[in-house]
Amino acid sequence: MGEANNRMRRLPTPTIDFCTALTEATNGIGSAVTQANFRAQITNPNAVAIEAAFRTSAQAATLYSVPRIASGAGDPVVHGSLRKSDLTKLYTQYFVPKEKPARRLYDQLKITANGKCPLCGDIGHVRTLDHYVPKANFPLYSVMPGNLIPCCRDCNSEKLDAFSATLDRQTLHPYFDDAKFFNEQWVAARVIAGAPPVIEYYVSPPAQWSLAERNRVAAHFTEYGLAERFGVEAGADLPETIDTRRTTLHGFSPLEYSDYLREKSENMSLPVNNWRRIMFLSLANDNWFCAYPH
Ligand SMILES: [Zn+2]
Repeated sequence: MGEANNRMRRLPTPTIDFCTALTEATNGIGSAVTQANFRAQITNPNAVAIEAAFRTSAQAATLYSVPRIASGAGDPVVHGSLRKSDLTKLYTQYFVPKEKPARRLYDQLKITANGKCPLCGDIGHVRTLDHYVPKANFPLYSVMPGNLIPCCRDCNSEKLDAFSATLDRQTLHPYFDDAKFFNEQWVAARVIAGAPPVIEYYVSPPAQWSLAERNRVAAHFTEYGLAERFGVEAGADLPETIDTRRTTLHGFSPLEYSDYLREKSENMSLPVNNWRRIMFLSLANDNWFCAYPH
């Protein structure tokens, strides 16, 4: 297992900067007056400063404390004379549509995940970009590349509309959060004996992590519905493993079978917290399962 495998799904920071995203999005605005007005409100030096502040905050995991527009607060002026709706439209009307020049940036951001959703550790295929902090509450970041995360449909729809206002509930940011959230194991599972056995997933972060860090992975796990989604995947996958034990691996002792399962888990080129790796690890550690079925 190479180091690259461990680090999978912590995505590289986007190479597209905010100035480029703004320029391309505003290139798609039909009216020259509207376009000029937009560019006068957020000039390039402005954009560099806004992006630097965003990154600093994202790296320090303090985006929860950035002032936000309250939901239901109407359409306030957010920056210069730009309203919330001007900025959210910049994304929906000038960044996403296929015929707009900024669409190539949208597609470029989407492919950085190599098709695998970083939020659920590979269950889903990347279908969309998700705003880490919602554009309705943080409209200034509507086309900020560092705020646009490639993800699958399920993660996009599981996500709550409201972004956490406390550190403890802040989900993981695949571009900016500490590498340990992606390198170290914090998902665990237990085997519930039965016919068929059931794999139950839970959160078990390293004891040396801070309370806030432990709470954050728990929040991420809950927000994306991972206990249930991992359980469904495992339930569908397990019959094949049991079948192999009954046939090809019939002669293995429980200990040999446990070693086989552990090796299988360790050799998978999947993220360390991927449901399948955790499933094989939990099976390897379970005495009942390793002796079952003869
Ligand atoms: Zn996902």
